Amino acid sequence: MIPLGSAQARILAAVSPLRPLAVPLDEALGCVTSVPLSAHESVPPFANTAMDGFALRAADTVGAPVRLRVVGTLPAGQDPAGLHVGAGEAIRIMTGAPIPDGADAIVMVERTSTDGDEVLVEIEVPAGNHIRPSGEDLVPGQEVFPAFTVLSAGHLGVLASLGLRKVPVFKRARVGVLSTGDELVDGPDDLRPGQIRDSNRHTLLALVREAGCEPVDLGLVRDDESAVRAAIDDALASCDALVTSGGVSMGDFDEVKKVLTDLAGEVAQLQIAIKPAKPLAFAVVGDKPVFGLPGNPASSMVSFELFARPALRQMMGHPEPRRRPVTAVADDGLPRRPDGKLHLVRVTAAFDKQDGRLHVRSAGGQGSNLLHSMALANALAMVPDGDGIAPGGDVATLLLDPA
Ligand code: AMP
Ligand code: MG
Repeated sequence: MIPLGSAQARILAAVSPLRPLAVPLDEALGCVTSVPLSAHESVPPFANTAMDGFALRAADTVGAPVRLRVVGTLPAGQDPAGLHVGAGEAIRIMTGAPIPDGADAIVMVERTSTDGDEVLVEIEVPAGNHIRPSGEDLVPGQEVFPAFTVLSAGHLGVLASLGLRKVPVFKRARVGVLSTGDELVDGPDDLRPGQIRDSNRHTLLALVREAGCEPVDLGLVRDDESAVRAAIDDALASCDALVTSGGVSMGDFDEVKKVLTDLAGEVAQLQIAIKPAKPLAFAVVGDKPVFGLPGNPASSMVSFELFARPALRQMMGHPEPRRRPVTAVADDGLPRRPDGKLHLVRVTAAFDKQDGRLHVRSAGGQGSNLLHSMALANALAMVPDGDGIAPGGDVATLLLDPA
């Protein structure tokens, strides 16, 4: 058995970023920039008013209240050419409208009252009052975001404000998901003796999507070496990576590990000192990683989290592909027996308002076949080999759901 860290390092060393490409702005959420992005124009593009009110000359407000003659109206979006604010004059102006020639300040409408074509300005204002200068947010030539920025909603807004239609990012990985097992049935059909329903494909498709990849449902394949081989070959023709479940343990019909060993030209089977998810078959075929995850439903999810997710994120350029553990308090303790393995215990985690710390409790049965507790858990507590964590003790925890 190899330690978790070595297995993760070995997998991360074997995968490289996918090619960069230009992706439409509205499809780039969660993608990672492949080059630094610079502004080629000013944002805002022109000096404009931050308030609805009157554009005027600050000098005219000295000794306010003062009366000024209203010589025009300037809504947002209108070209100010031809409008001019002279001494003793003001132009009615709306938020976002350009500052007209001659004006150097804005008085908000709440501090004025109008009377025919005159405005009574109640307060004195300094030059520049409520004016948002051109380039206040961004100036041409400025680096807006460096390479390897993970694009959030705010980033997309900034790029839209610069007029970008496409963003240079690392390609979103297209990831095939395949279930293997003669016992598996898809959907609601009656189960014949010995059959179970395929749940892994649906959890894995969802995990692939959550990881920011494009999932591709490749269905079920039987425990037959040539069928598995054909399914993997097919998948790799159209996907950047493949995630399978089942067929990687010590059973007589565990074909995935045989096929991957064949394809990789070396032993693809890893035994990792963790529980659940000890077996994993991993191979890079061409330049495409294949993750042969174990079949037990909780194992396949934990294995995806620990091995496939970081590798897929690294392929998509993420600077930090792995989650960082957070130190949590195990309120009731997390007892266990020594077995040479790190245990990944399904827990519910919550921040405590009083002490500001993360607290965790077991989410239920920890058998690798038990999916319900996995669904209830929002974190995995990493309980090192030994007798476990005493009540109130600290435990490194992977938060699966940062929200
Ligand atoms: P295996 O890794 O193929 O030996 O499977 C281990 C256990 O996981 C067995 O009990 C399988 O029936 C079960 N299993 C395998 N694949 C799936 C699946 N796609 N959905 C639900 N259970 C599965
Ligand atoms: Mg099987």
